Amino acid sequence: MAAALGVADEAVAFAAELVRIPTVNPPGDAYADAAQAIGDRLARGGFAVSILPAEGRPEHTPRYPRPNVLGVLEGHAPGPCLHLNGHFDVVPPGDGWTVDPFAGAVRDGRLYGRGACDMKAGIAAAVYAAEAVRRAGVRLRGRLEISGTVDEESGGFAGVAWLCERGFIARARTDYVIIPEPFGAQRICVGHRGVWWFEVTTHGRTAHGSMPFLGVSAIDQMAPILEAVRRELKPALEERMTRMPVVPEGSRRATLNVNAVSGGQAGEAVQTPCVADRCTAIFDRRFLPEEGLESARREMHELLERVRGRVPGLRYELADRMVVHPVETPPGSPLVAHLSGAIREVCGRGATLVASPGSYDHKHVARIAGVEQCVAYGPGLLELAHQPDEYCDVADIAQATRVLALAIVDLCGVAGG
Ligand SMILES: [Zn+2]
Repeated sequence: MAAALGVADEAVAFAAELVRIPTVNPPGDAYADAAQAIGDRLARGGFAVSILPAEGRPEHTPRYPRPNVLGVLEGHAPGPCLHLNGHFDVVPPGDGWTVDPFAGAVRDGRLYGRGACDMKAGIAAAVYAAEAVRRAGVRLRGRLEISGTVDEESGGFAGVAWLCERGFIARARTDYVIIPEPFGAQRICVGHRGVWWFEVTTHGRTAHGSMPFLGVSAIDQMAPILEAVRRELKPALEERMTRMPVVPEGSRRATLNVNAVSGGQAGEAVQTPCVADRCTAIFDRRFLPEEGLESARREMHELLERVRGRVPGLRYELADRMVVHPVETPPGSPLVAHLSGAIREVCGRGATLVASPGSYDHKHVARIAGVEQCVAYGPGLLELAHQPDEYCDVADIAQATRVLALAIVDLCGVAGG
């Protein structure tokens, strides 16, 4: 598709324009501007555009509205519905930048800025892939949809989850979903491991800090739990490897991260001498589809009971904070086959199938909408996401735009063709 070459520069320029809209989440800045910019571009390409604020979600407030944008392009004959979705929120820039994170500068073949790869380049590639198809004069069958959504970085509940709950993405209307997250122009992401966030709280009894023997420290009670996690649980997890092609390789194993520990008085508060009567540790456990949630839970319960056997008087509670089950595009998926074909045609080499170390909006598409045919495919390097000096290679944007243009034609089909 020669027209796709012509739009590559425009795709890069549009990605830069989106980087210059500082859609930082939290709190959810400038969302309306980003939704408008994407909507305007889609409308120019002939899409019927709706701005869809996430009514009913608590995080959708007058100060920080949560507008999603959806463009619908009806085909010229019946056929499948392909939905391309990208989140336009970005994480805060953080420290360590040598360039302005919101200038959208292109230098040495790279677009720099927060969200350059995760995932404003992906949104631009989707929008300009559709534009390339239009300029080539292709009359598509079915329906092509492109959405820009909020809050993926904070769970996607007002974004893709909301679109799925309201039926904008649904098994009855949506055949294929492609999410252009930054897995690179030659890699197709077919899912992710499960996520179990939980917290363990230990209880002590407070006393004056000068006479700590009169109380029981909840922090001292937490210490053997953390030690058992480090010495007993983590080595066991490292032995387990999923068949899913998770990248990087280390994330093919079951993992656990102690995300936070807090006990006693808050560090920033004025301190008074007291024995801590409460300590909470928050854990981020990534479980394999082969393990499942229940066995991960059982294992943690058993560990806590073992520690209780060794620590007299230990009182603890274990509580869930969040669960995301693993998702996986079914083997033999026609979506993967078509996209692989497009990658081979554009890049001259076959696609590599990967799975994501972390979860992303695929989970909502699979679990809420019930759409199994979902993958992530988009420009950029995953490792640069959320980093200082985030960038996306301009060449990657051009390749992904061409691949997506071919995939749109293949998946929707050509009317009268
Ligand atoms: Zn992302």
